[in-house]
Amino acid sequence: MLVNPPVKAEIAIIGGSGLYSIPELKNVSEHKVYTPYGEPSDKIVVGELEGRRVAFLPRHGRGHRIPPHRVNYRANIWALKALGASWVVSFAAVGSLREEIKPGDFVVPDQFIDMTKGVRDFTFFESGVVAHVSMADPFCEHLRKIVIEVARGVPNLVVHTRGTYLCIEGPRFSTRAESRVWRDVFGADIIGMTLVPEVNLACEAQLCYATVAMVTDYDVWAERPVTAGEVVRVMEENTVKARSLIPLIVKKIPDKPDERMCSCCRSLETALI
Ligand SMILES: [Zn+2]
Repeated sequence: MLVNPPVKAEIAIIGGSGLYSIPELKNVSEHKVYTPYGEPSDKIVVGELEGRRVAFLPRHGRGHRIPPHRVNYRANIWALKALGASWVVSFAAVGSLREEIKPGDFVVPDQFIDMTKGVRDFTFFESGVVAHVSMADPFCEHLRKIVIEVARGVPNLVVHTRGTYLCIEGPRFSTRAESRVWRDVFGADIIGMTLVPEVNLACEAQLCYATVAMVTDYDVWAERPVTAGEVVRVMEENTVKARSLIPLIVKKIPDKPDERMCSCCRSLETALI
């Protein structure tokens, strides 16, 4: 792990589809971080926001170069940890599996179902030290509360405070039959391609992690044809809402370790090793 020059950022933002920069960051510098797992998705931008040091990494790289199944999730999480992050807020575009979760709504999921196909590198514990971290409650409850509280205050934004995110391998979308299984049999609420293994790697790295899932459209179960133009319009609106959320979230994140009301930073203490 090499960061040159040495910089520190206690809060990290991972941008998803549509969110490739944070224009509000001040005094920015860009850092190429080397990790034992190869290169992160892009150079990491570090700057100041609301008096805090914040790192930003676009998950798919600037210009959306990397598809979901090719993202180097281990390098991304390792790099953010190496920069000193203890809080990670990630943003992701998702499809809705529920009538009441509408395009343009945001969901702060509290559970996930992993339907990736085992081809992604999904753990830091491959040999030497083996750890089985608990995934019963995979997201940081403290960070989820902050995100929900802030999102509720944003005009014209509907936020769902719970939800199960089903992660598929991609890059293809689901068939109608699959979409109905995810919804009616598995009970999932939203569907995307990037949460896993980002969330479990963050847990292994003892980071506080929460996701803001931005709904772009209904998945194919709904039999509601949408045009690419419509999806792009909703994504652009979602990006504007996400950008307005980020400084408010950063402001609310505690800057003293003892104000942390969760046990994410000690996840390995309770892991089966
Ligand atoms: Zn936490």
